[in-house]
Amino acid sequence: MSALLQVQDLTVNFALRTGDLTALNGVTFALGEGERLGLVGESGAGKSVAGFAIINLIGKPGYIAGGRVLFQGEEISALPEEAIRRIRGHRISMVFQDPMMTLNPVLTIGTQMVETLQAHRNIGQSEAEAIAVDKLRQVHIPSPEKRLHQYPHEFSGGMRQRIIIAIALLNDPQLIIADEPTTALDVTIQAEIMDLFLELCRQTRMGLILITHDLAVVSETTEKIAVMYAGEIVEEGRTEDVVRRPRHPYTQGLIAALPQGDDQRGTRLNQIPGTMPTLTRIPPGCSFHPRCPHAMDVCSERAPGPLPVAYPDGGGGMAACHLYDPNLGDR
Ligand code: SF4
Repeated sequence: MSALLQVQDLTVNFALRTGDLTALNGVTFALGEGERLGLVGESGAGKSVAGFAIINLIGKPGYIAGGRVLFQGEEISALPEEAIRRIRGHRISMVFQDPMMTLNPVLTIGTQMVETLQAHRNIGQSEAEAIAVDKLRQVHIPSPEKRLHQYPHEFSGGMRQRIIIAIALLNDPQLIIADEPTTALDVTIQAEIMDLFLELCRQTRMGLILITHDLAVVSETTEKIAVMYAGEIVEEGRTEDVVRRPRHPYTQGLIAALPQGDDQRGTRLNQIPGTMPTLTRIPPGCSFHPRCPHAMDVCSERAPGPLPVAYPDGGGGMAACHLYDPNLGDR
């Protein structure tokens, strides 16, 4: 599988009067063509910062302090703003949680889709409308020719999210970055939107980075998972391996906190004690050590690097944890 995206040692800082804070710390991962990756973690883990950093959309006072991003072999993190703007919304699209933040309430869906198309391509009104209708049909909006002339408030929440996905598809991107795309929707609609992403990825060989706090959503939709904690990737592997036999204590805690059995409202009996540290209070050593049931002396002294791990009855992966250091841990 050829590499679609390579994120190498990507670091994002926020420059504050009191000094720089690191929001993303040396994040590295790769995605093949048509591959689906889940970036998972609690709120504040740096997942969205990673998504924005890939397309160089970090707003001030944030800035990319190190590392690089290669898209189809081209180093896009080094491109001037004008060139990266041609890639954003064209070869790489983003889908956000709240469609009403993305859609303009005073313009019809058709106007917004035509404007988006014409911003990237030199095409006339009727050709742009035909493409818009085609994309609305692709995301299963009924009677797309009619719906083109309606305003966002005339659609349900699930339909609005489908329209956002249709807009993201307008220029046939090779990669979609979806940031909590179903969090604002009820469970049934969430499942439908996730099914739609799966269908589109399979149809078009488009890559997907799904950013979410919801491990259940990721486990049904993606092939690989990268688990984030305090701005770093702490575990990465094939989705079924990570979900069935997580290696990193943080991932183990996330899995143990998932609702059990058929009760979708399930009681979360096994929450990880404590909270994610804020950027100003990242503990020394392993940032998870104050919450970790397996913490050793070394954990508060030295940050663990990425180490290879093997999943029982599965493939290989990575965990940033001293437990997997053959010179330190007791595996
Ligand atoms: Fe726990 Fe230590 Fe591993 Fe961190 S490095 S997750 S504190 S065992």
